[in-house]
Amino acid sequence: MPHHSYRDFHAASVADPAAFWTREAGRIHWHKPFTQALAYDQPPFRDWFVGGETNLCYNAVDRHLAERGEQAALIHVSTETGSERTYSYRELYEEVARFAAILEAQGVGRGDRVLIYMPMIPEAVFAMLATVRLGAVHSVVFGGFASHSLATRIEDARPKVMVTADAGLRGGKVIAYKPLVDEALSLAGDAAPARVIVVNRGVAEPPMMKPGRDLDYAELRERMQDARACVAWVESNHPSYILYTSGTTGKPKGVQRDTGGYAVALASTMEYIYGGRPGETFFSTSDIGWVVGHSYIVYAPLINGMATLMYEGLPTRPDAGVWWSLVEKYRVTVMFSAPTALRVLKKQDPVWLKKYDLKSLRALFMAGEPLDEPTASWIAGELGVPVIDNYWQTETGWPMLTVCRGVEDLPVKVGSPGLPVYGYDVRLFDEATGEEVGPGQKGVIGVLPPLPPGCMSTVWGQDGRFVSTYFGLFKDRLVYSSFDWGIKDEDGYYTILGRTDDVINVAGHRLGTREIEEAVAGHGAIAEVAVVGVSDTLKGQVPQAFAVVRDPSQLADPDSRERLEKEVIARVAQALGAIANPARVFFVNQLPKTRSGKVLRRSIQALAEGRDPGDLTTLDDPAGIEQVRQAVQG
Ligand code: ATP
Ligand code: MG
Repeated sequence: MPHHSYRDFHAASVADPAAFWTREAGRIHWHKPFTQALAYDQPPFRDWFVGGETNLCYNAVDRHLAERGEQAALIHVSTETGSERTYSYRELYEEVARFAAILEAQGVGRGDRVLIYMPMIPEAVFAMLATVRLGAVHSVVFGGFASHSLATRIEDARPKVMVTADAGLRGGKVIAYKPLVDEALSLAGDAAPARVIVVNRGVAEPPMMKPGRDLDYAELRERMQDARACVAWVESNHPSYILYTSGTTGKPKGVQRDTGGYAVALASTMEYIYGGRPGETFFSTSDIGWVVGHSYIVYAPLINGMATLMYEGLPTRPDAGVWWSLVEKYRVTVMFSAPTALRVLKKQDPVWLKKYDLKSLRALFMAGEPLDEPTASWIAGELGVPVIDNYWQTETGWPMLTVCRGVEDLPVKVGSPGLPVYGYDVRLFDEATGEEVGPGQKGVIGVLPPLPPGCMSTVWGQDGRFVSTYFGLFKDRLVYSSFDWGIKDEDGYYTILGRTDDVINVAGHRLGTREIEEAVAGHGAIAEVAVVGVSDTLKGQVPQAFAVVRDPSQLADPDSRERLEKEVIARVAQALGAIANPARVFFVNQLPKTRSGKVLRRSIQALAEGRDPGDLTTLDDPAGIEQVRQAVQG
């Protein structure tokens, strides 16, 4: 229920953060009240709710038992195995408390790390909640990462126990996890955990089990049928988890999250941003391996007494109506997805969006990449509900720019995620001078510390790296850098222009990749595009575009190819001026993307400049990078 002027609300949150967040803190259960809302004597480090004791699992599960024990908590649907099951809060409690007892029996206690490398199955959520129940720290690694990537994360987190499964499934294809795990464990050497708990789904060859190290989950569960672990109360700033960034720009950073601040921040977002109410169903199409999955598949919906829908499968299998059928069946009220997935659905037959009753849905939220105008307008038109862009990062844990319609019913502007979210003192800076820039001027998006509750506490085990990486933008002033480039309008609405690493400098004019990409994508024939800056002796850099066409038959002969390239270039010239003109437009069937669906511009750029594409461990499908290689080599 809108009850404020959003601008006043935001101003109050940054003018007196301690007072603002003290009011919000009442949203969660505190075993012991905090004595100080904010401690900020060692900037940029800060502690929220100092001295308070709480527990994430208790807030997500136990707290609801009295009032909503029989209500749905976790709805799991897999179109890969054809399974569908709903766990009530009571059943979720039984599973989680038992799983925690199993971990405890393996020696897991406060501060110990549990590495979770799992497909999208309920046991993955049980394992996460069980870990924080014990005051231990989870590190979820996206299932399907290759053994090398897994090994580096094992080495960094040094887990006591690892939880995995026999296999994951994707589009009907079995990806055996256990052999990858075995290889990663041998690569990790003495950082490898002593115990590995294996959930055998029975979808792959029975996994090789190493005696003394590997334990079968079903057997443990049977043996410990009646065991339940108690909640371990932890101080608010005790770490709840480590999560690595997507690795789009280079080496992933291990983001460390606190406990109390995170719970409070997530609880507040359900009212102010998402408008999800207890008893309703929240559907986030992300994966638990990413921050959206942590915050909006697992913790925020459960902390707020909602049912969360967890989906294993593709958005297009068995058909492109599968998500919408779930919205109808489970009366989803709030949905959360990513532009990359929506662009896939946009290419499908429009009938799939007409087949189901979507009346329950109140809003669709999007994050992960710039939400382009054509995709946003299309889906908003089809669904007839607001489509709201959220801009945030693994580091922040919850949105940093959006339209907080739970505070005031402000307009959504297509192409913009909106205004700074309460708690975030967002500013735009000129990178060279360190001066703040005003409306209409491009700059790097920064946040004045102290960072609000739930944002990263530090880089796991590397406090120095936290300070130098995130606060090293200016010598004389502490500013958190997002490494994204943006611009804001007179109303304060931001537009993301791309990553600072990807800014293209043509003869002294600085252009965000997003600006040129939007112009290219405005051509009706183009489905998706990535633009990179390629070094040029004359101009410094020139833009090159790599575009996927909607209908490949348009490229049947060299003439039509050339015609389309010319049209695209003309369009960019018209939208942005000749300075932004791509020197070339290459047509490919597919762009290289990270496993979280982000375009790997750094590798495209490297290939376009004849260099090595660099670290490709986060690459989803090697075909994308091959396409680019072939395109530039002619
Ligand atoms: P790494 O930090 O390892 O290079 P990454 O930045 O892709 O990887 P994430 O934390 O998963 O890792 O992604 C956050 C980034 O995604 C943001 O900094 C921004 O570049 C982009 N992003 C997220 N949401 C949006 C959005 N709504 N609009 C535009 N860009 C977005
Ligand atoms: Mg990043």
